[in-house]
Amino acid sequence: MIGGGPAGLSAALVLGRQRRRVLVADGGQVRNAPADEMHMYLSRDGFSPHELLALGRAELAAYPGVELRQDQVASVSGDIDDFTVEFADGTRERARRLVLATGQVDEPYDIPGVPERFGRSIFHCPFCHGWEATGKTLAVLGRDVPQVMLGLYLADRHSDDVVVVTHGAHELPDEVIAKLAARGVQVRTESLAKATGELDALQLHFADGSVLKRQARPRPGRGRRCPQSARRASVRPVRTQPRGNRRLRNSASPAPRTGAGTEPPVRLGKRTPATPPSRRLPPAFG
Ligand SMILES: Cc1cc2nc3c(=O)[nH]c(=O)nc-3n(C[C@H](O)[C@H](O)[C@H](O)COP(=O)(O)OP(=O)(O)OC[C@H]3O[C@@H](n4cnc5c(N)ncnc54)[C@H](O)[C@@H]3O)c2cc1C
Repeated sequence: MIGGGPAGLSAALVLGRQRRRVLVADGGQVRNAPADEMHMYLSRDGFSPHELLALGRAELAAYPGVELRQDQVASVSGDIDDFTVEFADGTRERARRLVLATGQVDEPYDIPGVPERFGRSIFHCPFCHGWEATGKTLAVLGRDVPQVMLGLYLADRHSDDVVVVTHGAHELPDEVIAKLAARGVQVRTESLAKATGELDALQLHFADGSVLKRQARPRPGRGRRCPQSARRASVRPVRTQPRGNRRLRNSASPAPRTGAGTEPPVRLGKRTPATPPSRRLPPAFG
């Protein structure tokens, strides 16, 4: 199991109970690390995500076949029934099967003040954090359709005062601008210079010197699928379709052919370019 977040630990629990031998390797960078609370997880709403992981690890201790290892996997090579996993410290383990539970990495906008506020006063997801922002003055940072339509969502559900900040020129369809305007959502296209302040007292400083004061600001950037997890899509057919392509390859950028029998190791941690955002309206807002 590569990845020991909620997904990897859950999978390890299932496998452990089937009396499988499982090694869970975890680099220790769960996606919601900055968050103090998690929501929408039945029976644990408002619970500490760090405590959830600690409880999960403790539960796994009851299963002798499951071993947890705090270490980054640097590469994997091989094929079904005979994978080799190389750790950052150079040590290796062999495995018959691999499960990639490597999660997702958020890339907040590279605007001074934004990355360090991610998950604390600047949030990525109104579904996770909108409830706490109800009734507050909000801003949505984004310039593609799915992002700015979150402004509409927030205006419908949580706040009468929502401003969309595109941080520069945008190519939003007139239809989207009209929908936002009809709901009273202002769109500001000036570039942002920096963000200051903390939760409930955020200040967005534009390059022209003007300042927008906000109480919470969802959507600081676009999440991308971790390249490791992108590879999960290509590992899955290896396990379930024995007659399919058995190469372990990155579906986003196929590995170059190197000749029969010379499978190159798959490097974990290389970044793939973000998928161009869709300009279609999400069905919920159509
Ligand atoms: C600020 C914030 C708040 C959130 N709040 C909520 C919420 O309230 N409710 C909700 O439902 N969801 C919330 N989420 C989403 C939630 O965090 C994710 O859905 C969840 O973490 C996914 O779990 P995962 O196990 O798939 O991935 P992750 O939690 O990201 O875990 C993946 C693990 O794999 C490890 N890993 C990656 N590559 C390697 C490698 N090569 N070798 C070894 N280990 C590796 C990482 O270090 C990490 O520990 C939030 C996200 C963020 C960013």
